[in-house]
Amino acid sequence: MEQHTSATELEKKARTWMSERGVTVKDIAELVYYLQHKYNEELTMDDCNHHVNKVLMKREVQNAIITGIQLDVLAEQKKLESPLQETIETDESLYGVDEIIAFSIVNVYGSIGFTNYGYIDKQKPGILEKLNDKNSGECHTFLDDIVGAIAAAASSRLAHSAANDKSVD
Ligand SMILES: [Mg+2]
Repeated sequence: MEQHTSATELEKKARTWMSERGVTVKDIAELVYYLQHKYNEELTMDDCNHHVNKVLMKREVQNAIITGIQLDVLAEQKKLESPLQETIETDESLYGVDEIIAFSIVNVYGSIGFTNYGYIDKQKPGILEKLNDKNSGECHTFLDDIVGAIAAAASSRLAHSAANDKSVD
């Protein structure tokens, strides 16, 4: 019982923090559309929104979101200790923990997700380009990978459901 309540609170928190950091469900749904429309001509934005919302219901995903955003915000406020402060603030490429957190999301829907994640992380369309703008004064070291991972996971989910896999609605 109590677990159920706290999961709902966690989901609300994750969604609120994401929108406060400038990322909407629609932004992520657009990434899913970008990844999947070439394989599915009938794909609609409603489908993409649906699968993003389903991914956002997963506890692992909610935990990744709040952990990543918390670290981004603390780095932006310069409240972390050295050397973590500099590492996260400058999005040091060899750090890699941001990607590990993203993989925990991609992993939820199996291995197709990894291909999608790698692709979208290279292309950086839409919201990902905005999150990667190093001149914004904002720090999205974790959030950019998390958003890419949610899109990749939602794409895998969509691909499974299109293949009539009854384990995915
Ligand atoms: Mg990153």
